[in-house]
Parts: sequence; C-alpha cells; structure tokens
Amino acid sequence: MSTHSVIQTAGKNQDLPEPGKQSEMEHEWGVLALDDVLRRLDTDIESGLSADEAEKRMAKHGPNELAYRPQASILSLLAHQFLSSVVLLLIAAAAISFLTGEHLQSAGILAAVFINAIVGFFTELKAQMSLEALKKISGPTARIRRGGKDMHVAARELVPGDLVLLEAGVRIPAEIRIVESAALTVDESILTGESVPAYKSGLFVEGEEATSTLGFHGTYVLKGRGTGVVIATGRATRLGQLQCLLTQTASGQTPLEKRLEVLGGQLSILTLFICAALAVVGILYKEDVWAMLETSIALAVAAIPEGLPVVATLALAMGTQRMVKLGALMRELAAVETLGCTTVICTDKTGTLTENQMIATDIVLDRRVIKVSGVGYEPKGELTEGEEVIDPEQDDVLTEVLRAGALCNDARIERSKDDTWQVHGDPTEGALLAAAYKGGLEHKMLTKEFPRIGEIPFDLNRKRMTTIHDTGEQSIVAFVKGSPEQLIQACSSVNTASGIREMTADDRQWYGNKNEELAHNGLRVLALAMKTTRKSQWEEWSEKIEQDLTFLGLVGMRDLPRKGVHNALKKCHEAGIHVIMLTGDQPATARSIARDLNIIGNTAQEKDVLSGSDLEAMSADEMKSALQATKVLARVNPAMKLSIVKNLQERGEVVAMTGDGVNDAPALRQADIGVAMGLCGTDLAREASNMVITDDNFSTIVTAIEQGRIIYENIKRAICYLLTASIGSLLAIAIAIIIHDPLPLTPLQLLWLNLIMHVFPALGIVLQRAPRDLMRHPPRNPEEQLLERREFFEIITRGVLVSLSVIAAVQCMSLPALSGESLTAMSFTTIALSLLFQAWAWLGVGRHGSVRPNMLMWLMMIISYGLIFLALYVPPVSLVLETRPLGPA
Ligand code: ADP
Ligand code: MG
Repeated sequence: MSTHSVIQTAGKNQDLPEPGKQSEMEHEWGVLALDDVLRRLDTDIESGLSADEAEKRMAKHGPNELAYRPQASILSLLAHQFLSSVVLLLIAAAAISFLTGEHLQSAGILAAVFINAIVGFFTELKAQMSLEALKKISGPTARIRRGGKDMHVAARELVPGDLVLLEAGVRIPAEIRIVESAALTVDESILTGESVPAYKSGLFVEGEEATSTLGFHGTYVLKGRGTGVVIATGRATRLGQLQCLLTQTASGQTPLEKRLEVLGGQLSILTLFICAALAVVGILYKEDVWAMLETSIALAVAAIPEGLPVVATLALAMGTQRMVKLGALMRELAAVETLGCTTVICTDKTGTLTENQMIATDIVLDRRVIKVSGVGYEPKGELTEGEEVIDPEQDDVLTEVLRAGALCNDARIERSKDDTWQVHGDPTEGALLAAAYKGGLEHKMLTKEFPRIGEIPFDLNRKRMTTIHDTGEQSIVAFVKGSPEQLIQACSSVNTASGIREMTADDRQWYGNKNEELAHNGLRVLALAMKTTRKSQWEEWSEKIEQDLTFLGLVGMRDLPRKGVHNALKKCHEAGIHVIMLTGDQPATARSIARDLNIIGNTAQEKDVLSGSDLEAMSADEMKSALQATKVLARVNPAMKLSIVKNLQERGEVVAMTGDGVNDAPALRQADIGVAMGLCGTDLAREASNMVITDDNFSTIVTAIEQGRIIYENIKRAICYLLTASIGSLLAIAIAIIIHDPLPLTPLQLLWLNLIMHVFPALGIVLQRAPRDLMRHPPRNPEEQLLERREFFEIITRGVLVSLSVIAAVQCMSLPALSGESLTAMSFTTIALSLLFQAWAWLGVGRHGSVRPNMLMWLMMIISYGLIFLALYVPPVSLVLETRPLGPA
C-alpha cells in the first residue's frame, strides 16, 4: 500500500504561539513561582481540575493533538486500482477488440477491468481501515489527577491546568511545569538530539535554565518521580511545532509483501514470455492473428499473479485486527511474520505469569511470625500470631513495621466505583498500605503526621527505596525497604519489644532463614529498616542514609498465578517454544512459583534455575549453553535482559521478550518480538516494542504467536491457490494451441475467471481460523523460502491436472457435434469448477495440517458459484462471455 502523508492542520488550537515567542513563553513559565503557576492556571495541586472545568477548557483549547495523518484519500485509492501494467494490457486488448469490430467484447473487457478494480478497491480499503483503527487504539495515554482522583486517560484529553503524574518510563503528554519532584530525570533527545539526561525540579533556581522546571511533550522520564501541571497542549507545544517531522511514520512494506512483489514480478516476466511464445506458435499454425494476440494478452493478464501482495496485505491487516480483539496489538505489520517463528519467550514473572495483585500474608519481626488475613487490597483483615489475634495498638514493634511500609510508599489504595479496592501505583506497595490499614494505620493521617522531606526512589538495580520524614520533634527518620539479602546486611541494630539492640550474627542468620522460608512458599519478601537522627545532623548524614540501619522486619506477600497461564505454558511446550521466566525476585520465590506453574518439575535440577549473579560469572560460551537449558532466571536486572536476548539470538533463536520498565527498552528493541505490557508498561517500553499485550497476560502472547502462524500459513495457501489457477489456465491454453484444438476459453472468459472469480476463494482462504493442531508443531524457520520445493511441485501437478481435465472435457465434447459456444461453455465450466475444488483442496495442505473451512470460506465459495452461474445462465453476461446455458447432458 502506498503512503499518503499529507499533513493537515489539527483541531482548533487558538493559542498557537509564533515560533519566536515559544521560548519567551517557556522562559516565563519556567521562572514563575509555584503558587503563581497554580493561580494562573486556576488549578489545585491536591485534587487537580474538576471534570466540569476540564470539559470547559477542552472546548476552549481543543484536544491535545498534533496534526493527524489522514487516511489515504478514497479517490487516490481508487485511482491506484487503474494504474497497473495489467490494466494497461487490458486496455490494449479492449482496443484491439474494438478495432477488429468486436464491440461487445471490447465492452466486456472494460467491464472486467472495472469490476476487478472495484474488488481491489474494497479489499485495500478494508486493509487500510484495519490499519487506521490499529493506530487509533495505540495512541498515547497519560496518568493524571482530576477531581481528587488519579486516573488514566488518552493523552488527547489533556487541557491546560491538568495535573500529570510522572514516574520512570512515562512519556510526558503535553508541555508541563514541574510542581513537585524527586530525582526527576528526563530524556529530551527527541527534541534536542542530545542524549544527556536532563535533571528537572519544580523549584526554579536563579542561574539555571528556565527549562529546568519544564517538561516537554514527547520526552521520556528516565528516573525518579514527580507531578507537573499542563501549561500548553497540542500544537502549542515544542513537539507540536516539529510535528511534520514526527507524524510521517513510514508505513513500509513487510518483508513478506516485498518477497511477494518480487515473486509476482518474476512470474509476470515468465508469463509474458510464455504468452509471447504461444502467440508466435499460434500465428505459425495460422490461427487468426488478431484473435491470437488478444488471447495471449488475456492469458497474460489471467496468469500474472497480480493479486499476491494485495491478498497478503489484507491477510496481515485483517489478522492484526483480529489479534486486537484477542488482546495483542501489533505495532508493525512486519512483526506478524516473525511472530509465528518465535522459538523462545522470555517472560517477566510478576504481572505476566502472575496476577500482580500483591497481598501481604506474613510479617516477621522481633523473632515472631504474624499472619495477616484478608483479600485483595480491601483494608479488612486480622493480624494473628499462632491462634491469638493481636491488637496492633498494643504492639509497638509491629506498628513500627507497618508504619515504615506505609510511609516508604508511593502507591494509594482507594475504593473504586464498583466498591472494590484498587491500587494506584506499585502493587507491592499497595499490599503494604493494606496491611497498615489492617493494623489501624491510615496512610493519609500518617503522611500528615510525618511529611516526606526527601527520598531515594526505587531503582530496579538497587532493588530498594528510601524515604525521609520529618517527625516534628527536632528529629528526622528515614525508612528503607528492599530486598532482604542486602538490607539485612546493611543493618547494625534491630528493633525489639525491649528496645533497639545490636544485631548479632545469630539474628542475621535467623532472619535470613525466615526470608528463605517465606520465599520457598512462593512469597515475595521485602525487608524494612529505619534510621533516625537529629535535624541538625541531617547534612552530614544524608550521604550515609542506607548504612547502619535498624532492622524492623520482613513482610511476605503473595501473588497468585494468572488463570489460563497453565494452559498457555502447555501449549508452548507442545509448540516447541522454550519459555524462560525472568524475575527480579529472589531464586527461592522464583523457584516456588515456577513449580506452581509447572515451568519446572518437582525434581527441578540446579541448571533449571539461575540467578543474575550466576549469569554474570559466566563466560559468553557458558552463558549460551546455560540459557539453552535454563527455565528460570531470578534476581535479574534489566541490563541483563539485553545480553540474554543477544546470546539467545546468536544461537539462532527467534526471541520474544517481555518488558515494562524504562530499562527494558534496549532489550525490547533487540528482541525479534519485543512485547510491552499494556496495563503496567511504561510508554517508553511501548515505543520500543513490536507488540503490546493489552491485558499483560502471558496467555495472550501465546495466542498472538498462534495467530502469527495461521496468518502466514493462510497467505501461503492463498498464494498456492492463485498460482495453481494461473498455471492451470496457462497450460490449458498452451496445450490446446500445441495440439491444434479449438481454444478452450475465450479471452473474456479467461478474464472473468482470473480477475473476478478467483479473488473470492483466495479471500476465503486468507480469512481462515487456526486449526486445532496448529500449536502442536515446532515453529517454522524464518530463513525458510516462502514456497518450498514440495509446494512448487504440488502447484505444478495440480495445475497440470486442471488443464488436462479441461482438455479432456473438450475432447469428449467435440465428439457429438456441439456448437463452438457450447463447447467453450463446457470447458469454461470445467476449469472454473476444478479450480474451486482446488481452493478447497489447498485448505487441506500445509505444514500444520488441514484447516477446517469456516463460514467465510463457504460464503466465498457461494459467491464464486454464483459467478459461474451468472456467466452461464444470465443473458447479458453469458452473451458477452459467449457461453450457453448447459443442459443436463
Ligand atoms: P519482577 O521482575 O518480578 O517484577 P521487580 O524487579 O519488580 O520484580 O522487583 C525485584 C525486587 O525488588 C523484589 O523482589 C523486591 O525485593 C524489590 N522491590 C520490588 N518492588 C519494590 C519497592 N516498591 N520498594 C522496594 N523494593 C522493591
Ligand atoms: Mg516488577
């Protein structure tokens, strides 16, 4: 399909600044004091805009959109149908007919051209519409706060004054002024070309650039967290000014489409050559020169497999649309082909294989184990020790753990409209909030009592996070939470019922064992620790925040496997796809969950589960063979993902890799199929991916692979069918000329068959659903030829059979004295019907066994039969086609 990238002006952005004024405006917003920013935009930092106000502003400013790329105009699509070499050939044929006085035939040819163009037009239109629909749903989104609630909206909904929530991986959805931030770092290379991360903060410092307080539309948050207020949207942003550069996405052809075009081209040349030769032979045999010329042109038109690329495009477009309904959004068509070849899936554990609905079940402190009851994030449940219910108010050590968990936290839990409790933010942190509630500690109250004055955000490589709070009594406290192995080592004291005392080696051993125990039961374990100091010592202290900590306790949280993942894993096993589970959790947790999911058996061997540090210690060769065998990789950090993908690829694997965070982007780009998570994934990960899984579910990846396979198989079948049809009619005519028979088909009949009738069975074939045993075969080799020798052989045999049956029919029929027209009617019917049988027969051929025809195939067949009937029995058509109604005999 051709690209039509006309840029039109979008929406009604009235406040479009002149380019020169842009930087003036930026400067003004950048240096403004925070209160003035909020006042000027008439918004509130706690609750954001109200829904009504947002609506009003939308009416004034228009949607937050850059220019949009309109669909290829209907007219140009139609014109496209008439601009091909085949059509030109046909027009030549029509001219010859006209000159030789066959006006009816000439009109017939033109009609055939027209009908063919209409069918082609609708096919391409359908494909185009599918692709446009895809683009729409894959548009950018934003997390904002409106009416006091955090919500996810399409980025186009944003208006000036909206509060945008930022975290690592977020694509900044409009021009914003930062109002609050922690270690906020942004990649602005898309605008500036410089890949140096830009540090952002809400407070303007004299001497800094004004842009240090601004976030620009289209840039990505690399690290940290923050909140910004929208100051400009749509074309009033810097990106809006650059729109022309960015909205022109190349909609190139997929490798398959390219290969088909090449194949089509080669076959066309071959066909032209054969047709020319036949014309010469025919003329030597003293056939009528004009008739011969016409026949060979018609033959050329009929036999040139012009429809190949269009059929493939339609199959890909319709296939990807079907995949959207199944939860898989392809970001590029080309990936669909590769998808079916996937040999290894590297999948994240948390959220993809599991629900990512964390619930704290165990708290370990002061050498005690406390169980927590309850479901989901609802703050209802009991804390029990042994048989005894605990009153948390009487238990200071417990309260300290719960408070640390609730304060060292960026999530919120809220009762949603349907009365269920939902988490906004990290589910791990949501679980800690719910546990604190159960112990009588309310998050909102706590944050008022102990306001946060500093933080070191969570980082996947450090696997921990620290927040610093003002306790109001001349002292400050830091809470740290993170992976137990490291944190237990970083503690020098421990909190107990009798006060803080030194942490002994024995304590470390005991808590270490408890951690292992919880992990063995499949729980994710976090350790909590704290450190207090006087306000006056704050300066010198901040360097060493995460050292010499006081250990508070461990929290174990459960995350259940997703439903359906079991089956999906089984399918992968049968389909010869190796699944590797990746997780940042510790090996014991990973092992237990992998066992639950049947990824590893009960008798798992050492090599089945590796940790990130194991991998790092290996040489490249060792790593390659280790990856071949392993099924679980624990404590991997995102940087390792890239080398894992590369190593697998060097072994010739076709790798699908899932990812959600900022740091996953390089691995997603490197993977053959980068799979981003639609729900939890960051915008950056999505941009780097080939496919987005809208429900974050592993099963959907497997479904997508299945679709990738069937789409490819169907295209291949349709090609085989179309080639059979071409060869069948080509041979029938060739044999007739050589054995000096009357020609079995008139030029117009050839056109009727090949331009009009064959399209329908071919469409029927590409729209077939996956057969049941599709996933019981190993993946196809991506290097494999489109058509293998076996298929070529089959196409040729079938083509020969079709042509022989036509010749046989002609021979039989010419015994009783039949008029010439009944004769061609007979051979026309023979070839048409035998080709329809072939369409059916190709469904039964293929690597993955046969496809059971569905309704669409039947529909297409009925249309085709209708067309044959029309050609034989309906007078204007049969008159032009020079056929006769066939009697029962
Ligand atoms: P996964 O790859 O399974 O999603 P993560 O990379 O998110 O795992 O987490 C890895 C580890 O980092 C966890 O096992 C835990 O020790 C620690 N961790 C996760 N989330 C947090 C958090 N919000 N605060 C502190 N530590 C965390
Ligand atoms: Mg995670």
